[in-house]
Amino acid sequence: MQGLMQNKQLLISTLIEHAGLNHPEVQIVSRTCEGTIHRTNYATLRKRAKQLAKALLALGIESGDRVGTLAWNTYRHQELYFAVPGMGAVLHTINPRLFADQIEYIIQHAEDTVLFFDITFSTLLEPLLPKLKHVRAFIALCDIDQLPQNIPNCLSYEQLLREQNDEFEWPEFAETQAASLCYTSGTTGNPKGVLYSHRSTLLHAFTVCTVDGLQLSRKDCVLLAVPMFHVNAWGFPYAAAMCGAKVCFPAAQIDAASLCELAAQEQCTMSIGVPTVWLSVMDYLEHHPEKTKQLNINRIVMGGSATPRALIDRIQNNLNATTIQAWGMTETSPMGTIGNLLPEHMALEQSERFDIQSKQGRAIYGVEIRVIDDHGQVLARDGVSAGHLQVRGPWIVSAYFKADEQNILDAHGWFSTGDIACISAEGYLQITDRSKDVIKSGGEWISSIDLENTAVAHPAIQEAAVIGLNHSKWQERPLLVAIKRPDMQIDEQELIHFLSKRVAKWWLPDDVVFVQSLPHTATGKLQKNVLREQFKDFVFSSDRS
Ligand code: AMP
Repeated sequence: MQGLMQNKQLLISTLIEHAGLNHPEVQIVSRTCEGTIHRTNYATLRKRAKQLAKALLALGIESGDRVGTLAWNTYRHQELYFAVPGMGAVLHTINPRLFADQIEYIIQHAEDTVLFFDITFSTLLEPLLPKLKHVRAFIALCDIDQLPQNIPNCLSYEQLLREQNDEFEWPEFAETQAASLCYTSGTTGNPKGVLYSHRSTLLHAFTVCTVDGLQLSRKDCVLLAVPMFHVNAWGFPYAAAMCGAKVCFPAAQIDAASLCELAAQEQCTMSIGVPTVWLSVMDYLEHHPEKTKQLNINRIVMGGSATPRALIDRIQNNLNATTIQAWGMTETSPMGTIGNLLPEHMALEQSERFDIQSKQGRAIYGVEIRVIDDHGQVLARDGVSAGHLQVRGPWIVSAYFKADEQNILDAHGWFSTGDIACISAEGYLQITDRSKDVIKSGGEWISSIDLENTAVAHPAIQEAAVIGLNHSKWQERPLLVAIKRPDMQIDEQELIHFLSKRVAKWWLPDDVVFVQSLPHTATGKLQKNVLREQFKDFVFSSDRS
């Protein structure tokens, strides 16, 4: 027997309709690419998204067509977030930090029909122009008098909007239709396309707004320090429209001083971003204590790579804000687990709470998680049995876009994340490594993430990477490659001594090398494959005859 409730589809257009009608005056604040502050609100966003949808139709964009964006976090990008999927096309956010040949590859692979770009990207775009076969129109996110000269025949975004009024009814279609496309920034092979649906996007947004999720609400003013070309800015523009939260977009100015200035000026209550951003924000605030007093941030959602415990401590004690660590991937929309404390943890000592917050969090409703061993056996949730992390749920990828290999799930629908993890009895996930980065010494795993986090807890260490290299006796041993903080002194012996108080003896790196910089991917993750290549001829002191 069928239920007798309305079968209203979960479409992205319903978010902007809701926000525009029920939270019309809530502000949307952007730094522009020129550095000035722009203010709008949900009522105007709704109106302009409708004008933009009509402009897309006038350009001949049809349902299912891919519309590319090379853009920073601004209100115009937010308009594209709603107008493109709202009229039935697919928003393809392109990461400008990828190598030029990868950018060319993904625009071609996605078959983008039009490309919207911030004028700061015109020099990046120019050499690609002759190669982008499918793109029919290039649209600069600016007014007509600011059009870049080096992109011939490009159109002005503001002019396109001016030519349309806002009399537009959003089309109705199946919620399973594609809404947006984001490519993984894998370290090997070509990037792979993850194609989100309207349904997956809305279900994910509900989670961001739940109290035991990320508690986003109308009470919040959220500073988006995650680029909108990273997994839909972790779904926040959609979740914010769902609950009517005020949003602040920093454009390209994601340096610590600019972020703090915007957060202080707009009295942001929360922010989201990768640990590197918060490390630099905390360094900045500790040098400018007077700025800390101007801030009103009560929580920071951090993900993308492991959050060092020392950073959680600094954020709590110097900023009086709580860190909520989340784990996810492009393939998981991205929220998979969220690291809220449970009520029973409130009575714990602060340091014990930090231990829990250093883990990647618990599964949220909608995402199932498990770890399996090399033979496919499900491992116990005992906090120590580490294995391959698998996930499944309605906002987890089922296949990559236009990929040859369509079978990426196992027979029971589980997706293998490529992460190595364990799950505690309380359900807290702890990522110990990427499977391709694990260090196996004498048959036992050493967690490079744990070692890195412990190393950066030393005040003289700015960043650390641990890689496994060949060893004649142990097959592999860990090498610690670290960057010193400016003006700080530390040597190998002192760092090893510091680590020896905090990790098992057999985990201690055999050697430490200090470097000026470490290689990162376009999404800011350590590129350990590059580092392993760099150190492939390294011989451990313990291995020298
Ligand atoms: P991406 O698809 O580029 O977002 O990368 C996803 C990967 O980032 C995951 O598979 C993890 O390896 C890593 N990652 C994301 N969040 C965390 C976290 N909180 N702690 C540790 N690793 C993380």
